[in-house]
Amino acid sequence: MKIMIIGGGIVGLATAYQLQKKHPSLHIIVMEKEEELATHQTGNNSGVVHSGIYYKPGSLKATNCIDGKKRLLEFCDEEGIAYEPCSKVLIASRNEELAPLQELKRRGDANGVKVEKISKEKLHEIEPHVSGIGALLVPECHIIDYSSVALGMGQSFERNGGEIRRGEKVEYLHYSFPRWIVETNRGTYAPDFIINCAGLHSDRIAKMALPEKDLPCKILPFRGEYYLLKKEKRALVKGLIYPVPNPKLPFLGVHLTRMINGGVEAGPNAVLATAREGYKKSDFVFKDFSDVLSYSGFWKLGMKYWKTGFYEMYRSFSKKAFVKSLQRLVPEIGIDDLEEGGSGVRAQAIMKNGKLVDDFLILQDEHSLHVLNAPSPAATSSLSIGQTIVDRLPFQI
Ligand SMILES: Cc1cc2nc3c(=O)[nH]c(=O)nc-3n(C[C@H](O)[C@H](O)[C@H](O)COP(=O)(O)OP(=O)(O)OC[C@H]3O[C@@H](n4cnc5c(N)ncnc54)[C@H](O)[C@@H]3O)c2cc1C
Repeated sequence: MKIMIIGGGIVGLATAYQLQKKHPSLHIIVMEKEEELATHQTGNNSGVVHSGIYYKPGSLKATNCIDGKKRLLEFCDEEGIAYEPCSKVLIASRNEELAPLQELKRRGDANGVKVEKISKEKLHEIEPHVSGIGALLVPECHIIDYSSVALGMGQSFERNGGEIRRGEKVEYLHYSFPRWIVETNRGTYAPDFIINCAGLHSDRIAKMALPEKDLPCKILPFRGEYYLLKKEKRALVKGLIYPVPNPKLPFLGVHLTRMINGGVEAGPNAVLATAREGYKKSDFVFKDFSDVLSYSGFWKLGMKYWKTGFYEMYRSFSKKAFVKSLQRLVPEIGIDDLEEGGSGVRAQAIMKNGKLVDDFLILQDEHSLHVLNAPSPAATSSLSIGQTIVDRLPFQI
């Protein structure tokens, strides 16, 4: 039996790793359109191993994050991949954030994650430069480089006989009994089962594979832009400093993140990108943008969140506004303390009614399985998502 996994990001590679572990003799092939693995979401994120406090108890995000974190750290220990413990503080800086902060504590408790309400004195011991009127401490977070993790998964998979085709883009696929016909830029394949982990393009792969099904959602790309704290100002941040997120929007708000390479990132914001892989403001792909504009879900989302959307766009162009958001967390940060950083593009699935798909979303039928929403914390959760996929596969081997 031949299984094809589309996408060499952390979700595709973790799935390949878990599937091979369970069925070592299975023929598994991973298709990655880029010449290197992990160049999109997996290679452009905040590098935080999330603990799982934010997510609705019982959701895939909660269960996969908590289980995935454990599996991730074990995998890194086995493969000698670096990570560091790092505590996280969640800061309420306005009165109206105190109730949501309390709700986060309840969520953390319900998810069995260590989270503690802390006094101002304790907050200043942990993060001396932070200002806030309420704070939670999540002591058991970690920082990591997810590209290294994904490459480690790929190496282990190849070492054990798995096949990864780099620079090979799946362009067309069609099920013709008893197997698939898959055409790429380099050849034609005939796998028995397809697992779609194509991230920013997962809905397009699903649309080709399930033409008779009405997909419930579409991927909209949201760029997250970062600044970096200048070297001489890095001491302003000891670990991870987060605001209280808007419970209706899964993006976590601009935060300050110590990275495993010693730097400190500020961001990311969340602006609609005009290309699925639009890392720069000037990137524009007609098909990608017209896909957004022709989607009713986008307009319904826009009607609900137009104020937030415009503010995010304004903050994307105004460094002053970006700094103002950071000053709510660390007032000493000034405009000259920041230099341009990189960016990442999130693949966020939006329903036709304009609602953001909140949880991870996996759709399947008897010949294929599709990961249609795997935004943060999917990097933390990847090995657990991979296990969930393996457990859901409908075939016997
Ligand atoms: C700004 C930002 C910050 C984040 N911070 C965190 C964090 O701190 N912690 C955390 O846990 N998560 C974080 N995330 C989320 C995390 O990075 C993603 O959830 C995760 O990387 C998703 O992995 P993936 O494999 O699904 O997608 P990707 O990494 O995007 O991989 C998909 C792959 O599929 C390939 N592909 C697409 N179409 C085709 C095709 N037709 N043929 C062949 N290959 C194809 C692409 O080239 C790509 O390599 C963040 C994300 C962003 C964008």
